[in-house]
Amino acid sequence: MSFDFSKYEDELLFVPLGGSNEIGMNLNLYTIGGKWLMVDCGIGFANENLPGVDIIVPDITFITERKKDLLGLVLTHAHEDHLGAVPYLWRDLGCPIYATPFTASFLHHKLSEMGPGSKPKVYEMPVGSTAEIGPFAIELIELTHSIPEMQAVAIRTEVGTVMHTGDWKFDADPVVGPVSDYAQLNKYGDGNVLAMVCDSTNVFVEGESGSEGEVRKHLTKVIADCKQRCVISTFASNFARVSTIIQAAQDAGKVIALAGRSLHRVIEAAKESGYLDKNVEFISDKEVMSLPRKDVLILCTGNQGEPRAALSRIARGDHPNIRLQPGDTVIFSSRKIPGNETRINNMHNRFVEKKIEVISDKDFFIHVSGHPARDELKRMYEMVRPRIAVPTHGEARHLHEHAKLAKTLGVKETVEAFNGAIVWLAEGEASVIGKVQSGYIAIDGTSMIATDGDIIRTRRKLRDDGALFASIILGKDGELISAVQLSAPGILDPKEDDELIAECIAEITHALENVKARAGDNQIAEQVRLCLRKMLKKELDKKPVIEVHVVRV
Ligand SMILES: [Zn+2]
Ligand SMILES: [Zn+2]
Repeated sequence: MSFDFSKYEDELLFVPLGGSNEIGMNLNLYTIGGKWLMVDCGIGFANENLPGVDIIVPDITFITERKKDLLGLVLTHAHEDHLGAVPYLWRDLGCPIYATPFTASFLHHKLSEMGPGSKPKVYEMPVGSTAEIGPFAIELIELTHSIPEMQAVAIRTEVGTVMHTGDWKFDADPVVGPVSDYAQLNKYGDGNVLAMVCDSTNVFVEGESGSEGEVRKHLTKVIADCKQRCVISTFASNFARVSTIIQAAQDAGKVIALAGRSLHRVIEAAKESGYLDKNVEFISDKEVMSLPRKDVLILCTGNQGEPRAALSRIARGDHPNIRLQPGDTVIFSSRKIPGNETRINNMHNRFVEKKIEVISDKDFFIHVSGHPARDELKRMYEMVRPRIAVPTHGEARHLHEHAKLAKTLGVKETVEAFNGAIVWLAEGEASVIGKVQSGYIAIDGTSMIATDGDIIRTRRKLRDDGALFASIILGKDGELISAVQLSAPGILDPKEDDELIAECIAEITHALENVKARAGDNQIAEQVRLCLRKMLKKELDKKPVIEVHVVRV
């Protein structure tokens, strides 16, 4: 039975539809008085279970059924896992979007890349400003992260205030933008925060996340020491780092070439919002080879070994414009995201084989995380002092560890809520009280498809077991008019497996002799399919996708 929200109309409920089973794809909902507010609307990255799919977005069926009561979408910051799904979902949501100037500018760039056409209504909110959205009075609070204008959202309602932190860290020298707004956090701490919904990414990391300012010192030296061509890769989403690299290259007298579309997007947004001097110029990757090796720094995407990104192509030697030579340097100002290690190591090996020097965060202090380690979480809880802690931005193990940590810091109630959970945010009652539909939708080229539907299932089978196609041409009395045609891409080699192919054809011909004269085409196709399935299982122990086409002439 579906949950009866009308019984809780006067209560404040929290419903995450993404980001509470994973790090990524954040989408959070709050409701009171029958009205809904969304915070963030991000993408996640597909794993090998979704062949041919790079991006996933949350299943938003639940909220689209309540579209008329969805009053707005507030974006905490311009990271893909927080706003990347907007271009795919805004039409279904149909609500206005609230974002700071930098985040709005970044979103506009993303939306315009999707082509011309109508765009969502975006209200620009200055950093640290307030807005009344129905029963929700929101206030933005600036926190340091790795991109400008990351805003925690304090959501005041009749029954209490939620501090929705977004992604954050405490950095005394964030390089771009001011330090976190401690005064505001303390102000809310004094005013009795009912619940804090908080970043769990680095809950297993002891101590502090480290400062971008410290990274800048080390990276500046590493870049200055590059005597030949220098390639550096970082997360385009980390604008603080991008800004450091630009500054360090300028200090070292190097021209900067950009390789990767996401870098252009963040740089354009930063120029528009005043975080980067409008006059800073970049060259395109086409111009790189015409300059002396020591005079150029190539800033590129792809540090996670993404096969189509610039860095992988440079490593393979198939980048259209950039070639490296022995003595050149590749710098990874990044970390290995779990799951990508093999891909990254392979890329690293390719460079080493070509006598190209590789520098990573193992060699120098050239990367820090944008998320809070345990000591920072501790300080946040000491300031905000929520009565309820709801960990988010993590897998189950992160949320559980975060809940345990919050308890040790004196938080009375903690709720471990996964995607689709309905969380009642009431003192003494904080708990999961129901469940709504949630899940994942795959972005497959230009269409959106179910991640558990036939298309993906068949694609996985094609990948693992190949396919077999048989064409049968029959006369009107069911007699075979010409030889059966058979091909089996990904499972049988036309040259080497000619005997088995001939056997399959003989088996089909034999099966057709036993088909009743009046049998329909579907019945014939099914009988042939079963016969082929049995044969391939026996001969090869494989279960390919089998398609049989019957044509009557
Ligand atoms: Zn995030
Ligand atoms: Zn972020």
